[in-house]
Amino acid sequence: MSKQFLSRNFLNTVDLKSSLLFLGIGVVIISMTLWNWHYDVKPRLVNEAQSNTRVLASSYARAIESQFQNVTGKTDVSVIHNSINEMLLINDPSTGENLYYGVTLEVDYDAFPADYDLVNFNVGATDCKDCIITENPIYKKTNGELIAILKIYANPVFYQRLVDDIVNDLAIMMIGVILVLVVAWVTSNRLMQRIREREHSLVYEIAERKSAEERLHQVAAYDQLTNLPNRYLLQADFSRKLEESGRNGAMLATLFFDLDNFKEVNDTHGHEIGDALLKQVAQRMSEVTRNYDLLARFGGDEFVMIMSNLDDRLDVNQVVEKIIAGFEPAFELPGATVHITTSVGISIFPEDGNDPSELLKNADLAMYRAKAEGRNCYQFFSSEMNLELQYSRWVETNLRKALDENRLALYFQPQVNLETGDVESCEALIRWPQEDGENINPGDFIKIAERTGQILDISNWVANEACRVIQQWTEQGYDTVRVDINLSSKDFANRGVLYKFLQILQRHHLKASQIGVEIAENIMLESPDQVIKALSVLHNAGVHISIDDFGTGYSSLNSLKQLPLSGIKIDESFVHEAPNSKNDLVIMQAITLAGQGFGLDVVAEGVETEWHQSLCKEVGCNTIQGNYVSQPLPADEFAEQYLKKGKLARKARG
Ligand code: C2E
Ligand code: MG
Ligand code: MG
Repeated sequence: MSKQFLSRNFLNTVDLKSSLLFLGIGVVIISMTLWNWHYDVKPRLVNEAQSNTRVLASSYARAIESQFQNVTGKTDVSVIHNSINEMLLINDPSTGENLYYGVTLEVDYDAFPADYDLVNFNVGATDCKDCIITENPIYKKTNGELIAILKIYANPVFYQRLVDDIVNDLAIMMIGVILVLVVAWVTSNRLMQRIREREHSLVYEIAERKSAEERLHQVAAYDQLTNLPNRYLLQADFSRKLEESGRNGAMLATLFFDLDNFKEVNDTHGHEIGDALLKQVAQRMSEVTRNYDLLARFGGDEFVMIMSNLDDRLDVNQVVEKIIAGFEPAFELPGATVHITTSVGISIFPEDGNDPSELLKNADLAMYRAKAEGRNCYQFFSSEMNLELQYSRWVETNLRKALDENRLALYFQPQVNLETGDVESCEALIRWPQEDGENINPGDFIKIAERTGQILDISNWVANEACRVIQQWTEQGYDTVRVDINLSSKDFANRGVLYKFLQILQRHHLKASQIGVEIAENIMLESPDQVIKALSVLHNAGVHISIDDFGTGYSSLNSLKQLPLSGIKIDESFVHEAPNSKNDLVIMQAITLAGQGFGLDVVAEGVETEWHQSLCKEVGCNTIQGNYVSQPLPADEFAEQYLKKGKLARKARG
């Protein structure tokens, strides 16, 4: 704005100055011309006229003289008179007036002898003031007598008129010049004004366009919430920084940040608080960002930082540790105090990629590893992650096909009551059969499916398949047992199978008690309210709900208190370690006691040996699952071995 004002002012000053200068020069020129005319031209003109008249007069005088010579001896003055008149009379075309051309003749009577008395040249006044008098040369008669015949007066009226004409012409010319100057001045002024107006409107237009462009650029290139560059600007700047680092032979680090459990903040406190948190996170991260590094909001709760021209990886460690530490103090938001952490994945140019998309992808991959490592930490990309990436891509494509072509399978593993020896329930475990007859186990693809979102379709398939199998067992006349399926935390999202669970049961004419769900204990980390609500509906309907791998998560005991549960499954790691570790045995005992205290079924997983089984008994855990009893089996084998037609379930081994 001030720039505009300045330039406008400047233009005004310039215009005024140049107009005044222009006018001044005009006045000076006119004054000089008038001065010159008055003191130089006019006298010269008068002189000129006079001398011309003089020349004229003398030539007339000579002519008259010759006339005289021709009339020797005669005094027919009228002839002379007429011929002179003829010579001198001219007509002024402008007035139509007859004038004697510039001269007045007067006979010098004194010079004539008496017989010339008759001579009368009455052609003009002789008492003319200012007249130019030219005397004809002295005429020498043949008899040797010298006489002057005529005095010739240049006509003052004539040269006066002549000068007047010139003056008039000059005045007209000057008026013309003045008019031209005035017209030029007015025109130039108008022109200047038009130019100024155009300039103003141009300046305004340019300013408007610039600010519109700036606004557009701001919207297109910057994240409106955090004011950080958005992913589009990031991509543009990324290539430039990459080129620069390449030229300088320096390293470039791509840091991919993802906030841990941000969704929970949104769900618990609402989106406004979520937005306020993102703003503060951006602020804190910006504070530790070096001037020449680029921090951008990549989308949602993801941020990307590009550190260019690095000499040492250690520089990255320092910055990322500072950023992670920056998350330690709680975020004070309007009406809420929130603690949040971030997981960071880092890829390095040139080792981990040569172009922005590859570096971003690898940093993203490393970020997932950081999440898997327990969050609130950072991980550098490694080539082994690249193999994982290739594998996960393969899984993504082929799992989709397997699902579409119904080529997945459910295996069933019994859960046995050690006191009665009965198979009371079983766990449904997914298998992905390959063309070579081998199965890919869920440990190798469930996590990937969770990341790609395919888990929703898988869970849906598992729930339907488990119900179909139970229905089939019933139709085949088997006594069925409860089948527990595994669900993932993603299934608690809106589209998750949990919300169609009861309908699926109904469709297969099953009771809610015929099926159970196993959930991971850290399911509570993401949106606990939603989880509790969904599970309560199932639990109230009679669905058996147990926590899987109990004791390895973060909120074990707390989840016992909060969740609507029917059972817990002691993680196999405790069972495996128990023979050699008193601590693990104590944990098994504590879990069993706690579970039973809450009135829950307690199952020990991963029982592989008799010793494992006896340790389970020792700690009071009387339901076991594991290869010692049976490996997971296909539906018909499981029915064959553990379900008896019309009878109680067959006793388990041991
Ligand atoms: P989990 O729910 O804890 O399942 C138990 C796992 O332990 C199964 O592995 C089972 O085969 C294995 N297992 C059984 N007995 C023994 C034993 O004596 N020793 C040892 N070392 N392992 C034993 P699996 O089938 O590979 O499943 C691995 C995990 O994959 C499961 O752990 C479960 O978390 C997940 N999973 C399996 N099926 C599904 C499914 O249908 N949906 C989802 N979301 N997850 C599934
Ligand atoms: Mg399980
Ligand atoms: Mg388990």
